[in-house]
Amino acid sequence: MIEIAMQYTDDSNSLLSDAGKRLEQALKHVDISEDAIARLQHPKTSLSVSIPVRMDDGRLKVFSGYRVRYDDTRGAGKGGVRYHPHVSLDEVQSLAFWMTFKCALLDLPFGGAKGGITVNPKELSKAELERLSRGYIDAIADAIGADIDSLAPDVYTNATIMGWMMDQYSTIQRKLCRGVVTGKPLALGGSKGRDTATAMGAFTVIQAMSPKFQLIPAETTVAIQGFGNAGSTLAGLLAEAGYKIVAVSDSKGGIYAPQGLDIASVKKHKDQDREMKALYCQGTVCSIVEHQTISNQELLALDVDVLIPAALENQITEDNAAEIKAKYIFEVANGPINSAADQILGQKGIYVFPDILVNAGGVTVSYFEWVQNRSGWYWTLSEVNQRLQAKMQLEAEQVWDLSKDLNINIRTAAYVQALKRLGTALDAKGTRNYFVNR
Ligand code: NAD
Repeated sequence: MIEIAMQYTDDSNSLLSDAGKRLEQALKHVDISEDAIARLQHPKTSLSVSIPVRMDDGRLKVFSGYRVRYDDTRGAGKGGVRYHPHVSLDEVQSLAFWMTFKCALLDLPFGGAKGGITVNPKELSKAELERLSRGYIDAIADAIGADIDSLAPDVYTNATIMGWMMDQYSTIQRKLCRGVVTGKPLALGGSKGRDTATAMGAFTVIQAMSPKFQLIPAETTVAIQGFGNAGSTLAGLLAEAGYKIVAVSDSKGGIYAPQGLDIASVKKHKDQDREMKALYCQGTVCSIVEHQTISNQELLALDVDVLIPAALENQITEDNAAEIKAKYIFEVANGPINSAADQILGQKGIYVFPDILVNAGGVTVSYFEWVQNRSGWYWTLSEVNQRLQAKMQLEAEQVWDLSKDLNINIRTAAYVQALKRLGTALDAKGTRNYFVNR
């Protein structure tokens, strides 16, 4: 067995450094060459750009943007673009790292990449947002392409923004380049089912794992942090399947009703008025049900069966892990739990189903979209969902079996599975042994 410590920075606040600790755990259980390990310790390319944008009032404002391709041994880079005031190179590098392992875990022919702009999109007009998105593509155009690195939505980016990005890249290239961006509007070559893919994938994993713990939906309470694309769609799917969603939240805080929330009504109101309210609607008549207003921290500490972080990274750390009472955590957000918290949750006997498995439905349908763009043959919604569910179910079962066979936690098992595939691909390019023993 090879034992090599990951050589990330010692900065204890570095997300990438923390992400590397998961790899160290997995390396203890997989036979992989030193060359492959050395390669996986560093992002392949990290691009930092400045994006000048003419604001509506005539001022010129310059934004910082990033695009990182962590590894592309198994295929072209693939990863979302995040718009958030906290976006940094470190965050984008760690998100690209997770994408590398996610694509390998789902056995998609992609490497891992990610992008982002440091911006609060809520402060921009729609026209400013469009100029920023097109400016970002102008700045990174040389580093992307359907066979180089393709983009997708992430936090605070959506299908409209993906459409602008594809259009801008096509303008630069003087030809239609649909495969450079996924998560596009259907009218511009998007895939059916992409908007619900992350949630549908997570739902499939939850459904596949529920029988292992004899979880009966009607008796299973669920709290969800983050009520955006992924969180709100998953809340809807779980509610339809009979699970009892007792708490949901967004960036402003949450609502908690032990008797269960009517998710369809909460979602309808949130979509209309961008406000979270504990509503129960019959037709057009709505009333507020009994509930408590809670903070995001209080939501995480609720006494529920299933906790679903679906917002941002580092929500559960060594500071609050001891307070977590849920029995099962399904990570829909990327990196919501840090490595120190993992240890504490493990000691408490809490099962954590990791991001690289649970939220992989999004990139899986992005792959389907990329395939459809290249073949020009478009699939029905049921074809997309059937293929997505089959893939998610297969990989979830394999990770579960591996965790039992090796007696390791589910996160480590997911990394072991991904590492095996990455190691095989990296070694196929030639290992040190091959060159030394010639
Ligand atoms: P989104 O922008 O649609 O929603 C984000 C949600 O998080 C919003 O409800 C927002 O109010 C909430 N939020 C923001 N800051 C918060 C805070 N400090 N505390 C609590 N809630 C907060 O984004 P999304 O696409 O749903 O992504 C959510 C998570 O899922 C991210 O970690 C993202 O990387 C991950 N993810 C998304 C996809 C996808 O296809 N959309 C795929 C894989 C992973």
